[in-house]
Amino acid sequence: MKIQFYGAAGCVTGSSHILNIKDKKILLDCGMFQGRDGKERSNDTFNFNPQDIDFVILSHAHIDHSGRIPLLYKEGFKGEIICTEGTKDLCNIMLQDSGHIQEMETEWLNRKRKRKALPEVTPLYTSIDAKKCMEIFKGYGYDEWIELFDGLRIKFTDAGHILGSAITEMLINENGNQVKLVYSGDLGNVNMPILKDPTYIDNADYVIMETTYGDKLHGDLSYDLKELVNIINSTVNRGGNVIIPSFAIGRTQEIIYALNKYIESGTLKGIKVYVDSPLASESTEVFKKYTKYFDAEALNLVKSGDNPLEFTGLTFTKSPQESMNINNIQSGAVIISSSGMCDAGRIKHHLKHNLWREECSVVFAGYQAEGTLGKRILNGDELVKILGDEIAVKAHIYNLQGLSGHADKNGLLTWVRAFKNKPKNIFLVHGDEDAQKSFDKVLKEEGFNSHIAKSGEDLYV
Ligand SMILES: [Zn+2]
Repeated sequence: MKIQFYGAAGCVTGSSHILNIKDKKILLDCGMFQGRDGKERSNDTFNFNPQDIDFVILSHAHIDHSGRIPLLYKEGFKGEIICTEGTKDLCNIMLQDSGHIQEMETEWLNRKRKRKALPEVTPLYTSIDAKKCMEIFKGYGYDEWIELFDGLRIKFTDAGHILGSAITEMLINENGNQVKLVYSGDLGNVNMPILKDPTYIDNADYVIMETTYGDKLHGDLSYDLKELVNIINSTVNRGGNVIIPSFAIGRTQEIIYALNKYIESGTLKGIKVYVDSPLASESTEVFKKYTKYFDAEALNLVKSGDNPLEFTGLTFTKSPQESMNINNIQSGAVIISSSGMCDAGRIKHHLKHNLWREECSVVFAGYQAEGTLGKRILNGDELVKILGDEIAVKAHIYNLQGLSGHADKNGLLTWVRAFKNKPKNIFLVHGDEDAQKSFDKVLKEEGFNSHIAKSGEDLYV
């Protein structure tokens, strides 16, 4: 078998790897690049012919894993997208939203190009393209073996990263040999609200593994949740608002779940919570549909008749007007909005209205890629450009990585140590250079064979 690494090799976005099994080509994820040069790299043509791909195995709905599927479809991919049923439902929302963003950005770009007498450009794909490609998605449950063709059987197990996220176990039969390859996808953090912990896998010959936080330890989740309550209370006392840039899918629902607990117990009082992202509202509905994926605590709440994703004082804004009305609120609002890295979406408006106010707070709760607005704010830039205006960074800035949806270094190590026999090799993907080098070193010290996958590299196993 030949494995070819394309995106998310030496970086965290643009996940895509190709397996060549017999005469078939299987693409593991087909993600969008984000952050520095993200736009240019996402617009690049594929380094392979989309028509040659037989199947896409999709680990989860995050756009850095799924975002180029509509493009793949547009460029002639005729196979099936194999994923969990939760991922399929979330992609149905996410990809159309992504198409819509592409259309808006292209429109804006073309207005500028026209003034310079430059020819118009077309969007990477439209929301219609994204809607069309849903017809080739096939959603499956966890823990069932699926035969894709004679030579490849796969099984999804819960990765505990976002709803529907999967670790993929693959049994490959080629030339009379059976090889088991495990693709970790993105691995979740333990004890996350709502989600189950990532599944530990007993055995594998080879592993393709993410390393996003391969060199970092998250804070303690329960500590960070208490910290969030303290931040909200002190910000409200100062007369400000709390802005939480958040991925629409996953992080938003987990924060709602946590706030629900603190509001219902009376720890948090006198606040209004706004979820200002149409995508987050729609995906919350998908969460409500798949309560069977919830962990025991969340499931018990649902069974007792208390929906943990609803509480008094929680508003999901719908129209742009409702969203703009939030700009008039001076104090007492917790505003959860996307995108999580602050590069697109309504979060930009909320930062524009609150970032320059000393009494406000901005709480980061997820990964910020290099080159994003979120990363610049976290890095301590005193002045940032938002929607064409220079905005001073005066608000209190917090980074609560205990809320991260990714396993930290210890989480990754625990996962890899759970293999009963050490895999023959572990290929490291989905991490910045420092994270990968550091995790590779730790694995080698523990006696594992590991290899940092490079973009464009071919490996034979
Ligand atoms: Zn992810």
